[in-house]
Amino acid sequence: MKIAMIEVIAVSIPFAGGSRSAESAWGGKNAGSADSLLVKVTTEGGIVGWGEAFGFTAIPAVRAAIEQVIAPLCIGLSALNIGSLMLDVQKRLHIFGRSGAIMFGISAIDTALWDILGKVTGQPVHRLLGGAAVSELTCYASLVRYTDPQLLVENVNRALADGFSHLKLHEITVDAVREARNAAGDNVEITLDVNCPWTVRQALDMSAKLRQFNLRWLEEPIWPPENFGGLARLRREGGIPIAAGENVSTLVEFQQMLSAGAVDVVQPSPAKMGGISELQKVFSLAAANATEVMVHSFYDGPGLLASVHASAALGSKDSLVEWRYFDLEAQLYGDAMRPRNGTITVPQGPGLGFDPDADVVRSFRV
Ligand SMILES: [Mg+2]
Repeated sequence: MKIAMIEVIAVSIPFAGGSRSAESAWGGKNAGSADSLLVKVTTEGGIVGWGEAFGFTAIPAVRAAIEQVIAPLCIGLSALNIGSLMLDVQKRLHIFGRSGAIMFGISAIDTALWDILGKVTGQPVHRLLGGAAVSELTCYASLVRYTDPQLLVENVNRALADGFSHLKLHEITVDAVREARNAAGDNVEITLDVNCPWTVRQALDMSAKLRQFNLRWLEEPIWPPENFGGLARLRREGGIPIAAGENVSTLVEFQQMLSAGAVDVVQPSPAKMGGISELQKVFSLAAANATEVMVHSFYDGPGLLASVHASAALGSKDSLVEWRYFDLEAQLYGDAMRPRNGTITVPQGPGLGFDPDADVVRSFRV
């Protein structure tokens, strides 16, 4: 079963009325749409698998990496020898860096191959990973950075009304967190993701002010993200659990992060760090280090499905799925993967369980 074709498909789905973000790490100020990068792998027999690479403003670079560098190494090889193929590709491309566009592209192809393996064997990916003990997972509503307190409070209330009892904020001020906590009350779990803004000293000072809000975790507080020693110090002295990992790329780097005692919660990102193959290794590593895994899934395509399957099979009943809390004009899986009452259903069909909606892809392809 050889790989015949690898197609890169970018989709740009506009936000539905009014729900724009302030400037953040993943999109420009007032970005009008959420841009995703899908990869479609087709075998000689016509079986199709779907993957996703981290997209947004990196799409042109990742597209070039896949089309011109990675795909030519995969065409004509067996789609079913995922581990050995992906290892070979990683080794052949290591001179171009072990993260960024090259790894994002490898991640997408890896996930697509797991989708194909599931379709060929008639098994959902979670069963290929050992089987899921749960049929649904709790989601947290991952709010964008609003900056505007009124918009923030409106969206906190909207998420609670939708049935979420776990929220993630992407704000960076104490006042914004206070507003959100006041609106949500004491019984809602709130995490705060600040996307790497601070020195260790600044992060310690901010932690002292944020401690009162009972955050479940503080995510990526320190610049640069690979300052594991700084994270470890903040974790020891700051009084708030620390989460990070979406910008960690290789298994060795995850081991360094965990052995430094940098985090309470590790957050591998399947569309960035090597796909499902690498994700399952990080679950093992985290288990050996007695550290909780919360998969980063700021995606609405196969990256989201990879996260759901892996969390269901390899996580615990407390695993949370990140759900991007904004309204788009369309969803890649329609209503099939939309949380209800704050929970999302684990797909039971072969492979990832769903293919992106062909009409949605056609309408929003760029
Ligand atoms: Mg994050």
